[in-house]
Amino acid sequence: LGGTITRAIQQMSNATIIDEKVLNECLNEINRALLNADVQFQLVRNMQNNIKRIVNIDDLAAGHNKRRIIQQAIFNELCNMLDPGKPSFTPKKGKTSVIMFVGLQGSGKTTTCTKYAYYHQKKGWKPALVCADTFRAGAFDQLKQNATKAKIPFYGSYTESDPVKIAVEGVDTFKKENCDLIIVDTSGRHKQEAALFEEMRQVSEATKPDLIVFVMDSSIGQAAFDQAQAFKQSVPVGAVIVTKMDGHAKGGGALSAVAATKSPVIFIGTGEHMDEFEVFDVKPFVSRLLGMGDWSGFMDKIHEVVPKDQQPELLQKLSEGNFTLRIMYEQFQNILKMGPIGQVFSMLPGFSSELMPKGQEKESQAKIKRYMTMMDSMTNEELDSSNPKIMNDSRIMRIARGSGRQVREVMEMLEEYKRLAKIWSKMKGLKIPTRGDMNMR
Ligand code: GDP
Ligand code: MG
Repeated sequence: LGGTITRAIQQMSNATIIDEKVLNECLNEINRALLNADVQFQLVRNMQNNIKRIVNIDDLAAGHNKRRIIQQAIFNELCNMLDPGKPSFTPKKGKTSVIMFVGLQGSGKTTTCTKYAYYHQKKGWKPALVCADTFRAGAFDQLKQNATKAKIPFYGSYTESDPVKIAVEGVDTFKKENCDLIIVDTSGRHKQEAALFEEMRQVSEATKPDLIVFVMDSSIGQAAFDQAQAFKQSVPVGAVIVTKMDGHAKGGGALSAVAATKSPVIFIGTGEHMDEFEVFDVKPFVSRLLGMGDWSGFMDKIHEVVPKDQQPELLQKLSEGNFTLRIMYEQFQNILKMGPIGQVFSMLPGFSSELMPKGQEKESQAKIKRYMTMMDSMTNEELDSSNPKIMNDSRIMRIARGSGRQVREVMEMLEEYKRLAKIWSKMKGLKIPTRGDMNMR
């Protein structure tokens, strides 16, 4: 998609005269690309009209940077489409919230419930899981297994067949135990959709959730809009989580889900594992959708903010794709020393919102310093290994002792490392610009 859009814009800006016709051709090309990325037809058409309104053909002809104006207009328009205009309900730590998950079978609900619980648990919440899927054989076992692995309390039954009863019992039980995040997993059976929606209505009415999350498999393509709308018409969906973004899905379905539910995407699932879960950030997502941010925005940023003499080394390391704890240490040093490099990493999906949430720069700095203290207690072997598996329990304990921190904190730091390493690995094989290229900028 990114390639096609970039090509279309390129072709247009190469044209000697930019008139209505050339702009239309360019927009048609972009429309095709968006449809291919599973953005719903109606949304594509609205977007085309909006862009035509924004992009003034006379401005373009007057020799302004046409490419940039159009690219920016598309970017902004897609960002707007992902912003329903109001944030979703946000649970508060220490105050009981009930969150109900809905979505078709196989969309990733049960997996996502656990990821959501685990994500909050790591931040000091007291989550709990309720299995109100009494339809699928093995549903309770699956949730139980996930919950046990993450050490999260769970509730369910092998014999009870009434999902409403279980949901209510589970929610009541965990309210009494003062859990602050009670997550209700539901059934998503196919082919009996009327019955499914009726069941969702009943569970929702009985448990009175503070938030209903619609879980959607990103690979369902053009079906996204109708599916999301069908759920929204049955229960008051207030947020969306898009799963399987690690696969071949092009992500356009997320736009449809937002449009159909008028709710924001809050997280995305990027793998089968518990920690493959990212806070959703509109801009990096759109960059990825357009392919422009992919790494080009990132590279621009590197050129802009990393001191010239450090660029070749950093780019070399990027292209090798082996992210070691030592590289993380050095990047942390950079972040602390010269602030702006933080901006470089804030362009990467999953990094900014996790490590450096907006408005919490002080806390982030303190956290980075804490991580560095722990890394100071590591051996060279540990720092230079790109294999996270070498960090066994005894090493973790030794590092905690050596740095006077908790084992939990060392583990948290290693989680951060793993997340960054994963992002880093995507940059393997990146084409490294020569010094000459850089000087030309
Ligand atoms: P449910 O029927 O909606 O509860 O869906 P499940 O949670 O059982 O997930 C269905 C399948 O999708 C399982 O094999 C999960 O491991 C897989 N899955 C869920 N989320 C993701 C994701 O983000 N990425 C990938 N690759 N697989 C996922
Ligand atoms: Mg399930």
